[in-house]
Amino acid sequence: MGKAAAITVGDLSDSYALLIRARLCCTATGRRRSADVVYRVGRCRTGCRVSLRDRLDAMKCAVLQRYWAIFLHGGKYPVNVLYRPGGKVLDVTMTTLAPEHHDFQLMCRQFTDKKVRPAVAQAEADGHQSEELWREMGAAGMLGLMTPEEFGGSGRDEVAVAIVAEELARAAGGIAIGPMVSAYMAGTHIVDYGTDAHRQEFSADVASGEKIVSIAVTEPGAGSDVAGITTRAVEVDGGYRITGRKMFITNAGLADIFVVGAKTDPEAGHRGITTFLVRDGAEGLSVGRPLPKMGWRSSDTREVVLDDVFVPSEDVVGGLNRGFYQIMGKFQLERVVLAAMGVGHATEAFQLAVRHVRERSAFGAPLLEKQSVRHRLATMEIEIDTARMITYLAAEQLRDAHPDAPRTVAKAKYHAAVAAARVVDDAVQLHGGSGFVEEGDIARHHRDIRILRIGGGVDEVQLDILSKAYA
Ligand SMILES: Cc1cc2nc3c(=O)[nH]c(=O)nc-3n(C[C@H](O)[C@H](O)[C@H](O)COP(=O)(O)OP(=O)(O)OC[C@H]3O[C@@H](n4cnc5c(N)ncnc54)[C@H](O)[C@@H]3O)c2cc1C
Repeated sequence: MGKAAAITVGDLSDSYALLIRARLCCTATGRRRSADVVYRVGRCRTGCRVSLRDRLDAMKCAVLQRYWAIFLHGGKYPVNVLYRPGGKVLDVTMTTLAPEHHDFQLMCRQFTDKKVRPAVAQAEADGHQSEELWREMGAAGMLGLMTPEEFGGSGRDEVAVAIVAEELARAAGGIAIGPMVSAYMAGTHIVDYGTDAHRQEFSADVASGEKIVSIAVTEPGAGSDVAGITTRAVEVDGGYRITGRKMFITNAGLADIFVVGAKTDPEAGHRGITTFLVRDGAEGLSVGRPLPKMGWRSSDTREVVLDDVFVPSEDVVGGLNRGFYQIMGKFQLERVVLAAMGVGHATEAFQLAVRHVRERSAFGAPLLEKQSVRHRLATMEIEIDTARMITYLAAEQLRDAHPDAPRTVAKAKYHAAVAAARVVDDAVQLHGGSGFVEEGDIARHHRDIRILRIGGGVDEVQLDILSKAYA
């Protein structure tokens, strides 16, 4: 390996996501190369100059090591370097991650390349991914990030969850969403609100991918309006009897356990909802056929019917009549996951587009030589970067129980989903007719991103959350 000949760091500014331009003069494989490296440092607020300098010093080595990794591995690895000599875009990877998160991101990306990408076509055709892939995700530690170690998880954080969501979505949204729902949108109800007995029984198996969980809240007549659900849980001797219909339930055909929201006090509106654990095979529980969907074709989505299903009192999840608050609480991570998936789709689409316009010639030259094409790519990159920054900020704030977290999460969910829609649509445009061919990756990303503006709270709900503060 060659040595770094010089590093100078300049152009410091005090913005939150600080852009540092470092000109590295490196010696690689016996030849002298130089490159502009754009490096963003998160959490650097005004007034932190000293600690920022300290951080920079500590980071110089890491920057160089990562830069060498690009040279040595042909730009294959996710690094926080955006450009290599000649200005060719290598990647648009998040740059505010702590080193341990970078390592985790690298692992997730390698997993995705090796295990997920080869499985996409089959999973899309089957309407779900294989059980084996599910277990492999578990073995790789991708499904137990919010589960404490004592219950079989790794007890990491929301940033790590966002990383998994982003990296899996780069391959396929449908493959990403099933495990994300099981581990982080449904399984976290058990982790955070279930009893020790529930956690002992389920959490390790959910983290290992052995068991799958669904969250069943939406109904044919109530989606955004969670308080409007009509599924009823009536108290009987030893437990409750639940009757109602749930719609668009992810993993319904695969699930071992359903976390079901039902009204225990219909007169009390949102204060009368309780969540229950309903086990697959419970008498009166049935699921419909898989719903054919515009996108997310490799995820299983069905109607769930509960016909007088008995649930023992021990299987109430959390507090009686606390379900609405619990569901809203868990929506926060769900929204971060969906935002991160948007970032993943957009990043992948951007890279596909860059590759395409480099290779495709028209009017006697590669498309990339047209300024309007390059400008389109530049706006796509800006959209991705801003979406990524707000998404990971939301994940950090959620982890830190920051008071701004719900608003930042709403901004991230809205912005990443809308930005992903614009970026992926632009990528289709740059692909021309080949972008419109159904089997192509780019068309699949285009199909998959549409749900991100609907699931986990529609755009309008996110804007409602934000606009309440203006009243
Ligand atoms: C593929 C897929 C998977 C899903 N997985 C699950 C799951 O696992 N579990 C689960 O419980 N649910 C799931 N859902 C349901 C999803 O969460 C809902 O579809 C979503 O919350 C929107 O509800 P809705 O479809 O009833 O739309 P509605 O609430 O009827 O909204 C329709 C439209 O009305 C407008 N609107 C709604 N509210 C407002 C408002 N406050 N202000 C202004 N306009 C508004 C918006 O334009 C909105 O798009 C899934 C849905 C899909 C499509």
